[in-house]
Amino acid sequence: MGALKNIVIAIFVLSLLTFVALFGQLPALRKTPIGWLQQALFVHIPNALKRVDQKVTGGRIIVKSKRLGHYLFYERNPIVLIIFLILLTGSSGLFLWHAIHLLPTSLLLPIPLLLGLPYYFTYLCATHTSHYITTLNLNYRLQGYPFDHILYHPGPQCRTCALPKPARSKHCSLCGHCVAKCDHHCPWVNNCLGRGNYRYFLALLLSLGLLQLYGAYLSYYLLYPYFLAHRNRNVLFKRGYWSELGEAMAYAIHRGGLPIAGVGLLAASTAAMPLALLGYHCYLIWAGMTTNESQKWADWRDDMGEGCVFKASRKALKAHNRARRGSEDDEDGDAVGAVRWPVESDQVVVRTNDGEPPVGQEGLWTRVWSLGDVENVYDLGGWDNLVEVLRGR
Ligand SMILES: [Zn+2]
Ligand SMILES: [Zn+2]
Repeated sequence: MGALKNIVIAIFVLSLLTFVALFGQLPALRKTPIGWLQQALFVHIPNALKRVDQKVTGGRIIVKSKRLGHYLFYERNPIVLIIFLILLTGSSGLFLWHAIHLLPTSLLLPIPLLLGLPYYFTYLCATHTSHYITTLNLNYRLQGYPFDHILYHPGPQCRTCALPKPARSKHCSLCGHCVAKCDHHCPWVNNCLGRGNYRYFLALLLSLGLLQLYGAYLSYYLLYPYFLAHRNRNVLFKRGYWSELGEAMAYAIHRGGLPIAGVGLLAASTAAMPLALLGYHCYLIWAGMTTNESQKWADWRDDMGEGCVFKASRKALKAHNRARRGSEDDEDGDAVGAVRWPVESDQVVVRTNDGEPPVGQEGLWTRVWSLGDVENVYDLGGWDNLVEVLRGR
């Protein structure tokens, strides 16, 4: 029984750590216990260890672990993908090996589909390459989205790829490419998620969550008879009810052992992760932004709160500049190759260091206090955003 208790505790701690690592950096959780724990685990404790190593070995351990850390986190490598596949294959294989002859056919039927889909979507996410921006597809990618003049401006080139940056793209140093509609680099699939494969990532999260829930249900189905047999059906609120319930559960877990109870508990305790991540991405889709953009918007929101963000009309600014130069030429790079897009916007937004509107144009700019005051041109409305994502755009 002691070993099982340790397994349950280990699963709980691992689930919590994974949750903190996955979600702790999200802007929405920055100022919550999850964000603080993430900061403590990944910033403060490593810094304290660094100081100790500096004193004891002159920093040798840090140099070596940095090299390993660099390979694990800053170079493209399949280690997390391999661990994920080993965990998925190992736990489902162990469970099926012990449970397949105990389950009725009706419960066995969905297994090939439920088990196959996470592998299929992992494969689609990992092998996708058409979202990498190259000289061959650059013009096509530049036509993908208009510049919103808030998060993305026409003009900048990627220093590594030496190509203009299309709106909503981002250079990934791990993949070594600029990525169209870059969402984030996902170590689980060892690839960037962006235009084209983001929908497969959502399907992977959904299929993985469903597989885990089904695995947890099968474990429950097999162990519930043991639980019932060991219970005396004490009435709720009567003395001894909870201890008896706990004993019956412990007995059922003991009978199931690691292959059925252990895997079932692991599936049940970790099912929330892909589903919560899917929920978070549904929120991003509803809001019309990528993970990359949600971080940019969070920075804008903080600056707006400090009162150093201003918006103006691009047309009014152009007219002002023309009048000042006394000429009719238009130097706005935006005029090149207008993109067909359902939402048109005339706004331009800037942040200033001194909290004052740009000098000489004070009358043209109005201070912006919240994100609600500016327009996200990439937000076509919740339903239309979802349709775009499902169509691979
Ligand atoms: Zn690049
Ligand atoms: Zn990448």
